[in-house]
Amino acid sequence: MDINNRFNRIFPSFTSLHSGLSPGHRIIDNFSNCFVFNLHSKQKDDKACTHQLDNMVIEASSSPSTAIVVTNASIKNNVATLILHTHTHDNSITKTIHHMVHITSTKAELFAMGCSINQASNHNSISKIIIITDSIHVARKIFDLSLHPFQVHSVAILTKLQWFFLQHQNNSIKFWECSSHLNWSLHKAVNKETKVFYPTLLFSSKTSWNFSKKSESDDILNIWKMTFQALDLKEKQFLDLLNDNNNIIEPFYAEEGSWLKVFGHSNSLCACTVHAITNHAPIGEYRLKFFPREEFKCLCGSYPIESRYHILHECGRFNRY
Ligand SMILES: [Zn+2]
Repeated sequence: MDINNRFNRIFPSFTSLHSGLSPGHRIIDNFSNCFVFNLHSKQKDDKACTHQLDNMVIEASSSPSTAIVVTNASIKNNVATLILHTHTHDNSITKTIHHMVHITSTKAELFAMGCSINQASNHNSISKIIIITDSIHVARKIFDLSLHPFQVHSVAILTKLQWFFLQHQNNSIKFWECSSHLNWSLHKAVNKETKVFYPTLLFSSKTSWNFSKKSESDDILNIWKMTFQALDLKEKQFLDLLNDNNNIIEPFYAEEGSWLKVFGHSNSLCACTVHAITNHAPIGEYRLKFFPREEFKCLCGSYPIESRYHILHECGRFNRY
């Protein structure tokens, strides 16, 4: 703990003993039928997804007891802007804007969902809440009963939800996934509004634990990338891998890094790929360098040296197109 507050950070706190996390009292035990996730189906194209969203809104608009909340968060200059648009039966839209400093996008989105649930559930006439978000993984965090850095927030939201479900047996909530790239009208409007703000931080403020962790790991990653490029530690032979947009894939540490997640599942494939990336594969180019008396021509007969470039881009033995 930072007792003297030397680091000016807000440390995470956990509520593992909260009654809502005990078996028998959890939301999943008592209200499993009251919450639903509507995820993007990979089989559906974007047009089908927007069509489904449109139909859902038309249907929901006819019910006076349904509230549709569209949320979005955007972070600029370390200030998060969260906006909620709450649509109700009478076609009115309630807009709520919050600014928060030095937090991560996960926390911002979670806060936005908490606000949405609070606002909508406090209306006596509302029995069905539909939250539309492009961060459905954050909505899942609310129901994650394990120990995680956002536990305090998810427990607060769960408590509110349990209260809402207890009010009436028909009360329910639905989390609807809507990716930003769909450009679906209601989400696009919220997204656009969050981008309009250019907040500037004038006074020093506390920093959340996750934000500190993120900034420190970003700094380390930048130093790592700079060292990797500038000092040429990767050496001249290193094969830069490109993504689908022809940009060089940069080193990254999360989720097995940038490369391992693609070929790390097989030891032999991993070994071959590392040979290729470092150009230490047993091919003609390598033999010419270290064992010049051995054969270094390509077996295809159309190239004097079996080089890595030739194998990857030219040789008919490997590139059958
Ligand atoms: Zn060849």
